[in-house]
Amino acid sequence: MAEPESLAEALDWARQRIDPLEARVLLCHVAAISHATLRGFGERPLALDAWQRFEALVRRRAAGEPVAYLTGAREFYSRAFRVGNGVLIPRPETEQLVGAALDSVRGRDGIRVLDLGTGSGIVAITLALELGSRAASVVAVDRSATALGYASMNAGALGAAVDFRLGDWFAGLDDLSFDLIAANPPYVADSDPHLACGDLRFEPIQALAGGDDGLDAIRDIVAGAGARLSAGASLLIEHGHDQASEVRRMLAAAGFALVRSVRDLAGIERVTTGRWCVDGIRRRAVD
Ligand code: GLN
Repeated sequence: MAEPESLAEALDWARQRIDPLEARVLLCHVAAISHATLRGFGERPLALDAWQRFEALVRRRAAGEPVAYLTGAREFYSRAFRVGNGVLIPRPETEQLVGAALDSVRGRDGIRVLDLGTGSGIVAITLALELGSRAASVVAVDRSATALGYASMNAGALGAAVDFRLGDWFAGLDDLSFDLIAANPPYVADSDPHLACGDLRFEPIQALAGGDDGLDAIRDIVAGAGARLSAGASLLIEHGHDQASEVRRMLAAAGFALVRSVRDLAGIERVTTGRWCVDGIRRRAVD
């Protein structure tokens, strides 16, 4: 289209092609203005270079690319994280994992935290910032160098001290042990049709797909966690909407006590947690 006269005209053009809210997000992004400015001053002109970038982003969104990749950012736990191709886009349900992790160590000091499959670093960085460096030291691993690049950039920008390590789950952790292990691993079944829909088509498959039943990564994590946990330590795993009872069974079978699942804001059992009580009485989860 010819260069629009105003922000409002550019927005109208975009709203015929993509979701209206997403059109606003992209326009505010290219024009470097707030939503309030766009709402209140729609008659203002849009610079030619900003219009050209906006037009290109709207066309890419219309072709399916995730908004978070187009703006390069997504909010998680009220902080802005950089994301892009090759790294999973933060999901709101992962805030449940962080909330449950914080609940499990509240009031304690000197906690050693491990985040497995950190991706853009949201879990490790949020735990480091929420707990503070006196209360916690945080290690985070991922086998994707691209993901770790984003994670280090995010930690730097947000002022979080996290020891990032490239590796497959527990490999590359030397002889470290932990008081809290949190993981948002790939857990979608390989054959799940959702992998071919929406934003997921553009995200790294290795961060999403977890084998035939989606539980391959969770099995590896449960099998390896005990050797890395101190007595009384917690393991917390995010999983799919229909995997809670199986993950509870796995944790109980591996010797974890106090096994339970936590629901997300949609009421779905999304995170399962257990305590490693090597010296204590092992209480089995009742399904
Ligand atoms: N919750 C994500 C989804 O279903 C999957 C994230 C993951 O596999 N860790 O889109």
